[in-house]
Amino acid sequence: MNAPSMRLFFALRCPTGLAERIAEWRDGQRLSGRPVVAANLHLTLAFLGQQPSTRLGELRGLAAALQATAFELRLDRLVHRRNGLLYLAPSEPPAALLDLAGQLHLALRTAGFTLEERSFLAHLTLMRRCSARPPPTCPTFDWSVGHFALLASETSQRGGLYQQLEQWPLLPIR
Ligand code: ATP
Ligand code: MG
Repeated sequence: MNAPSMRLFFALRCPTGLAERIAEWRDGQRLSGRPVVAANLHLTLAFLGQQPSTRLGELRGLAAALQATAFELRLDRLVHRRNGLLYLAPSEPPAALLDLAGQLHLALRTAGFTLEERSFLAHLTLMRRCSARPPPTCPTFDWSVGHFALLASETSQRGGLYQQLEQWPLLPIR
């Protein structure tokens, strides 16, 4: 019998207080589209897609072995793509974020996982199928990032739900 599989991705989960502030600001813009609920706001580091649960141990091991540092992330850009995606992004992605994503991608590829060819783009999705014109600017949202997580994406009748399987601390900023 085949092992059960899960739709997996590594991400930074937006802390509750910040997620609520971001969602409150977004909801105040009265845009039409499919908003991401506050509890699901995140920044994807690496998307693995459907994987057999037998590979979870390997994923946990490679994540625990990363040597990446904590960082301050400033989300200060609002981007509306033609495909309706509305997201927040840092105008200056911190070097430590690019390093974390780079280390993770290398470790995953070395272990034989297939990742997207596209280079990493730091973004926090606010809404999908956004058809209204968003404001040209957004407030600045500051986030102290001290952990990254492995999440399983599940679809329920009430929409997508992410289950956190494990999280790992980043090394303190010196
Ligand atoms: P839904 O697909 O139900 O609208 P979702 O996009 O939040 O919800 P998933 O499709 O499971 O849920 O995706 C989880 C995360 O991985 C999201 O941040 C999504 O943008 C990202 N992701 C999904 N597919 C890919 C892909 N092919 N390449 C890179 N990232 C992806
Ligand atoms: Mg999706």
